[in-house]
Amino acid sequence: MPIVNLLVKPASSLCNMRCRYCFYEDEAANRTQASMGVMTRDTARRMIGQALEAAGPDGSLQVAFQGGEPTLAGLPFFRDFVAETRRQNTNRLPVSYAIQTNALALDEDWAVFLARNHFLVGVSLDGDKTLHDEFRVDASGKGTWTRIQRNLAMLQRAGADCNLLCVVTKRCAKSAGRIYHALQKTGVRYLQFIPCLDPIGEVRGGRPWSLTPDDYGHFLCVLFDAWYRDWKEGRYTSLRLFEDYVHLAMGLPPSTCATSGRCGAYSVVEGDGSVYPCDFFALDDWKLGNLRQTSLAELSKSERAVDFLRRGLQRPAECGDCRWQRLCFGGCPRDWVTDGAGKTGNYYCAAFRRFFAHAEPRLMEIAAAETAARRNAPTF
Ligand code: SF4
Ligand code: SF4
Repeated sequence: MPIVNLLVKPASSLCNMRCRYCFYEDEAANRTQASMGVMTRDTARRMIGQALEAAGPDGSLQVAFQGGEPTLAGLPFFRDFVAETRRQNTNRLPVSYAIQTNALALDEDWAVFLARNHFLVGVSLDGDKTLHDEFRVDASGKGTWTRIQRNLAMLQRAGADCNLLCVVTKRCAKSAGRIYHALQKTGVRYLQFIPCLDPIGEVRGGRPWSLTPDDYGHFLCVLFDAWYRDWKEGRYTSLRLFEDYVHLAMGLPPSTCATSGRCGAYSVVEGDGSVYPCDFFALDDWKLGNLRQTSLAELSKSERAVDFLRRGLQRPAECGDCRWQRLCFGGCPRDWVTDGAGKTGNYYCAAFRRFFAHAEPRLMEIAAAETAARRNAPTF
């Protein structure tokens, strides 16, 4: 049963905010064409048809919209997209939608649309007002926390399923507990944390927001302590990275490619139909082609796509005898760096080692409890 997973950028790298650490703005600036424009209805229509065909008679389709800021494609684009998918989905395959948004441009119409169509809405929020407003600013340089909070509450009132995405900067890393509790206060119980990226080609660690391995290791340990305490006391908050580690300890598949040790879980489709194998490699060298000329199915079998998968399966040499391999798999290749002596390793390796040493017994405790709970759960 093929699962076709698309990460669609309907407004390319266009954005109504100017987050100082934005990785996609940097990535777009590193390719021949930074913005590939807003997706036309015709490109969307072709993409939907090709994706449903690739899913076959019994597969499924997962579409995640991202940017830049995807809502800049406009609500009519999204309405059309959902209607067109319904029209073309003659096999009635399961289709799910997600959107990652800064939430700045949302209004009641958006909130109702997203809730009605069961979009999983990821809202970017960096903890509390002080931390968020330091880097997440609008086009005039003003902090956005108050407006995002208001729009998040509007989404919740409309009944949309929300999760929060927090970018871990150097400053955030010092305040893991404070951020965790600030995010919990919104009432959203699904949280994701992703390390902030340094610009492509720069030696890591040189920007005010740069997250060093030491910062990240500290952050993960403090965050885990707070999360574990909640689990122990029956106040569960879903935290994607830690849940992935628990699932791996239980012998279950994790939810992200970065924790699975395999690239190629999804395809990125840019505004003009250009296709890339990963959001972190949406660069000229990794462009697979354009779905307006070559179908998604064919592009996924192209030499570059196969090469990308092959590279993603390799591990840095130092991972070979590491005792944390079965939980870590070397992490995401975007974090693999080569030092002056030609030795490749994960930039955050020291953070992972510190975290696993700190958390392993408790990760195993949760895994054992979850396994027992599943065993005892009634089956119908
Ligand atoms: S490079 Fe990282 S994010 Fe990209 S597909 Fe591989 S594991 Fe996933
Ligand atoms: S902790 Fe470091 S050495 Fe071990 S698997 Fe992860 S990245 Fe590789």
